[in-house]
Amino acid sequence: MRTATTQMRFFQRIVKGETMGLKIFFDGKLVNKEEAVVSVFDHGLLYGDGVFEGIRSYGSLVFKLSEHIDRLFESAHTLMLKIPMTKVEMSKAVIETLQANNLSDAYIRLVVTRGVGDLGLDPRKCKVATVFIIADKIALYPKEYYERGLTLATVPTVRNHPEALNPQLKTLNYLNNILAKIEATNAGVDEAILLNTQGYVTECTGENIFFVKGRALVTPPPYVGILKGITRDAVMKLGAEAGLHVREDVFTRHDLYTADEVFLTGTAAEIVPIAKIDNRVIGEGKPGRTTLRLMKAFRTITTMEGTRYDLPAVTRSGK
Ligand code: PMP
Repeated sequence: MRTATTQMRFFQRIVKGETMGLKIFFDGKLVNKEEAVVSVFDHGLLYGDGVFEGIRSYGSLVFKLSEHIDRLFESAHTLMLKIPMTKVEMSKAVIETLQANNLSDAYIRLVVTRGVGDLGLDPRKCKVATVFIIADKIALYPKEYYERGLTLATVPTVRNHPEALNPQLKTLNYLNNILAKIEATNAGVDEAILLNTQGYVTECTGENIFFVKGRALVTPPPYVGILKGITRDAVMKLGAEAGLHVREDVFTRHDLYTADEVFLTGTAAEIVPIAKIDNRVIGEGKPGRTTLRLMKAFRTITTMEGTRYDLPAVTRSGK
């Protein structure tokens, strides 16, 4: 039996929402958030040695689940990181995590680290990879971002050279992006544009970049040094369906400054319009017609396409 004090503490925890903690998929099972703890010897923490994915679900539909799982396994393959689960098991684990947290609209973070090793770099010392999945309520970007458009600046930090740390790998080493983000904040803008070592536009810190010029919709090719975004891919298809001439091409800041419209794409941000770059007004300085049209088309596919899952029925009192 609870004493009055423990009963009171329990009650206070309920009021604070603490007992409604998240369930995390952690090394093969669902555990409470507090139990999902990684060792200080995990090479994901010590060296950023690991891979991850950010996925979204809309109205109990996981958007592009198999594409995200494929990209995770491809990043791991190049790093010679063995994921101790099959793709099917991984997809099931994502769905189970969403169901355990009763989330219909969520942001899902899937992480695989090299696992526990010693203080040296050698990944062979890490016997089993650590796998965890967090599904949480989606923290939406402020509405005004989409209404006014973001401001961007090109930053001094260049995008990782593909022969050093290929941006096509979605690894836990995001310091290149973090440095760029710090520089954008220091410059007083919303987001950074990273160029490559040759001065060509690559991408932003967590989004791909597109420009519209007449009927052309242009985005950089993967070899300049970008993550091949899954939203980018979906938007290229939507653009072609809308009759735009979609192409991957190398381009410079000048092409962005003189574009009719510029927008970014990413799982979390979806499609976000750009108003200014390096203090140059882009087009009319507000979300353009093509961007708005693509935003609408993208919304539509997120409500129709995806891997469907059921959520547990709400338990009625007395049952
Ligand atoms: N570039 C980078 C560096 C990213 O981290 C991300 C996504 N997190 C993207 C682009 C967009 O990719 P996706 O559309 O697959 O989310």
